[in-house]
Amino acid sequence: MRILSGKETAEGIKLEIAAEVQARISAGKSKPHLAAILVGDDGASETYVNAKVKACARVGFESTLVRLDASISEEELLAKVKELNEDDRIHGFIVQLPLPSHISDQKIIEAVSPEKDVDGFHPLNVGRMVLGLPCFLPATPYGILQLLQRNNIATEGKHCVVVGRSHIVGSPMSILLARNSSPGNCTVTLAHSRTQDLKKITLQADIIIAAVGRPRFITADMVKEGAVIVDVGIHRIEDESSKSGYRLIGDVDFDEVSSKVGAISPVPGGVGPMTIVALLKNTLQAAGN
Ligand code: NDP
Repeated sequence: MRILSGKETAEGIKLEIAAEVQARISAGKSKPHLAAILVGDDGASETYVNAKVKACARVGFESTLVRLDASISEEELLAKVKELNEDDRIHGFIVQLPLPSHISDQKIIEAVSPEKDVDGFHPLNVGRMVLGLPCFLPATPYGILQLLQRNNIATEGKHCVVVGRSHIVGSPMSILLARNSSPGNCTVTLAHSRTQDLKKITLQADIIIAAVGRPRFITADMVKEGAVIVDVGIHRIEDESSKSGYRLIGDVDFDEVSSKVGAISPVPGGVGPMTIVALLKNTLQAAGN
């Protein structure tokens, strides 16, 4: 069994990005600049945004963190988005989701300029992705493609079962893996909460992408020998032996499943670091030549 280490793979990609930043600077160009809007003080969102800001520093990007109070109105947030759209010093920005319930995620996503939409959530980028046109790919599926490619996981002709159909992970993942490209050319089954007899389907999978949002949902009896497993899930569970009092687990029962499969991404250290590095790649792309 091979561990698909997102941590190691992401480190390699960060070195490449850092070298490109240096080349930009030597050529008299500006550093890529990513901004992140964080609304409220949700612990998990704070952790994700901090990791993104830290990664920017690692590769030589500039970053700006815009912290806004949870009580901000939708109109005020839209005004902030407009300000960032118009700020020439910022190449790309993200609005960390989820937003407080009185603000429409979709309205905010649609307000971000497609040219600065480094999360790849704007309908224009989603549409271009479906058509295989140049665009910003959504960070998590893009990171997973990189993880598969850089670890030489063959995808062509393979049956890939994506479990979960969210707009940010499962659905774009299924589209990208079915594309006529490399990685890609998979035969894809997209499963969700209404799928009947999921186990029968996952047992046929050469590759499983687990994006269910349920801890240890994929168990050993659901996977065939030698399959490749990518675990997208992130869940905090209490762990008194850890200093923080918790630890992270995924959507896959790693201990059970890992002994049976050909390759598996761990949690933490799998898809998480790849998502961040994909965001960096999109920001570099947004900065242009
Ligand atoms: P969502 O909750 O938006 O989507 C979950 C999907 O799983 C839905 O499509 C849902 O189906 C499906 N589902 C739920 N229960 C079942 C079931 N019993 N059988 C089959 N399908 C089911 O989650 P996200 O896609 O946003 O995230 C998934 C996980 O990945 C979460 O743990 C999240 O924290 C993590 N994540 C990790 C990232 C990273 O960087 N590592 C980035 C983004 C997310 P239906 O549509 O029918 O409701």
